[in-house]
Amino acid sequence: MSDSRPTALVTGASKGIGAAIAVQLAQDGFDIFLNYRSDHNQAERVAEQVKAAGASCALLPFDVTDGEAVEAQLAPLLDTPPFVLVNNAGFAADSLFGMMDDTSWTSVIDVHLNGFFNVTRTLLPRMMRKRKGRIINIASTAGQTGNPGQANYSAAKAGLIGATKSLAVEVAKRNILVNAVAPGFIETEMLEGLPVDEIKKRVPLGRFGKPEEVAYMVSFLCSDKAQYITGQTFSVNGGIFTS
Ligand code: NAP
Repeated sequence: MSDSRPTALVTGASKGIGAAIAVQLAQDGFDIFLNYRSDHNQAERVAEQVKAAGASCALLPFDVTDGEAVEAQLAPLLDTPPFVLVNNAGFAADSLFGMMDDTSWTSVIDVHLNGFFNVTRTLLPRMMRKRKGRIINIASTAGQTGNPGQANYSAAKAGLIGATKSLAVEVAKRNILVNAVAPGFIETEMLEGLPVDEIKKRVPLGRFGKPEEVAYMVSFLCSDKAQYITGQTFSVNGGIFTS
């Protein structure tokens, strides 16, 4: 990592939205700490794209739900904490509520809420000492509207939006801005197996979003242009939900 460039940690960045955010922030001038859980080959490919944008990239494989692993992996970052933290790691395990098993419920709550908690609480005290930082939590339309078959996921994402609002108020005086971005249907592996043609008809813009279109919003929220914005949730959803 260079001493002169700001740094950003993006969780769940081996593919999909997290990968697009990592590459966009690299293009914006950030060096990147790239977290992922298991897909090392894919993470290496994203790291190449980050480096092609002129940034440094350090791979940080850990499971965000494992508090001890999070602390151990992030300890070396604490002297110079990243300016940006993007809590993006996540997955869905859909099932109608009446048929939802324990694992589907707890694993989805775990990755989105405990993952956010584990990573953020490790970095936050150092960010507060530096009196600067941006925290972006990747929520979902499902956390704003609810969605059949996604009670677990909707609960997790609604919880993340609530945590965003509370944390934003707590740390505003330390010049740390905390916002959420709520994507609608975005073309990633997460959509595999869904009835895409049916879903597209429900999107006013008539198509799914691209990961880069979520990354543009994150890019703005991490920029100097967004210094008076905190505690908000920004939808990137093709109009499928209007608040
Ligand atoms: P994706 O393509 O499936 O990528 C998920 C990423 O999260 C991967 O890098 C994966 O790492 C990582 N990950 C999963 N569990 C993890 C864990 N326990 N610890 C660390 N990393 C973990 O998903 P995506 O569609 O880009 O979704 C990214 C975020 O956007 C998620 O929070 C999701 O809920 C949200 N979102 C997505 C959509 C959509 O339509 N795609 C809509 C709204 C919100 P490995 O693959 O290396 O294991």
